[in-house]
Amino acid sequence: MPQSFESARSMILEKVKRLPHEPVSLLDAVGRVIADDICAPWDMPRWDNSAMDGFAVMAEDCTSGQQLTVEGYIPAGVSACGVEVKTGHAVRIMTGAPTPAGCDTIVPIENTEEKDGRISIKGSVKRGDHLRVQGEDVPEGELVIVAGTILRPAEINMLASFGYQTVATFCRPKVAILSTGDELVEPGEELGPGQIINSNDYSLAAAVKEVGGEPILLGTARDDRDSLADKINAGLEADVLITSAGVSMGDRDLVCEILETQGVKRQFWKVDIKPGRPTAFGLKNGKPVFSLPGNPVSSIITFEEFVRPALLKMMGHQSVIKPTIKATMKEPVKKKAGRVQFLRVQVIRDGEQLFASSAGDQNTGIVRTLLRANGIAVLAAEREQILAGEEVDVQLIAAVKESF
Ligand code: AMP
Ligand code: MG
Repeated sequence: MPQSFESARSMILEKVKRLPHEPVSLLDAVGRVIADDICAPWDMPRWDNSAMDGFAVMAEDCTSGQQLTVEGYIPAGVSACGVEVKTGHAVRIMTGAPTPAGCDTIVPIENTEEKDGRISIKGSVKRGDHLRVQGEDVPEGELVIVAGTILRPAEINMLASFGYQTVATFCRPKVAILSTGDELVEPGEELGPGQIINSNDYSLAAAVKEVGGEPILLGTARDDRDSLADKINAGLEADVLITSAGVSMGDRDLVCEILETQGVKRQFWKVDIKPGRPTAFGLKNGKPVFSLPGNPVSSIITFEEFVRPALLKMMGHQSVIKPTIKATMKEPVKKKAGRVQFLRVQVIRDGEQLFASSAGDQNTGIVRTLLRANGIAVLAAEREQILAGEEVDVQLIAAVKESF
């Protein structure tokens, strides 16, 4: 029994487990998912300091026309120990420098006029202006980064400023990729009659890298049992195995059979989708095995829909399904009822509205249409046609084109 698109994806996400975590250098941590909660080990900032280059003063001294004697200087990177703002005085201070005793306000340099060792203050001054107070950013002990957060430059900054050099993040899956087929030769090899270049290895490796996994190319297995068994066994050493081709109904389509003999328990085979119907999913001791169809378009789309969310979950991501946007179909689309159709579309913004139109020939054999597409419209299984002007859900795979 073929699975529905949703049940196939849910089954995968239910079965696939998070990988363990490992320490990574902060420099390599961007985009990774942190495995531990992080609490502030100290107040941030660690001490009261100046937010501006200017003068540390007492607010009560700063009435209009008042002149203050400049005495003392605190650049960034020194202690303010022993320096004090006395009544009628101002201490020259630089941004980030610790504020001296007695100071309750900073007057920026541009709001002063300095002459003969004295400043007069332009404009009004409010107590506490331009002061950064100890702990105002994050007080010691506070939870600042929750386990499961994707590390962006902002999180990396916070971790670095708390002295972290490494951080525990979920491991990146090693993903073995196995192309199968007697007709395949590698790029650079001479093409004989009836032979084609194994291009899926490259698109699948690219897709794995784009998500954050580590592809391992196993090379090509021929459409015979021994060759397949050998390569599949090697592939099962990785965290994930992806096979391409050999899962349809042809007499040389042996991938499912050999996976079973190698101990991979099939969870499903065939999904009510187009393209990508023959997709299969199995598990060996909890290790996921995806068998994608051989057509390059089908393998790329089924990777997007099934493998990508699984890899994201393994890497600790909490949001693994690509969000969709709504776009208005420019032309009608006919489809077969009973299958979700992934329509390769071009999404264009016109004013406030997004419009989608077919990116070209939707035949599974036409890779070019995928190059022209910036979205995959997900057309519901039960529908037989979509009318022009109807809204469809689109997963963006590239930037929206602007109509200017
Ligand atoms: P199959 O699923 O084995 O029937 O293959 C479906 C189609 O995809 C056939 O036209 C194959 O030649 C093609 N194909 C299979 N594997 C690859 C590959 N690695 N790279 C490019 N095309 C492939
Ligand atoms: Mg084949």
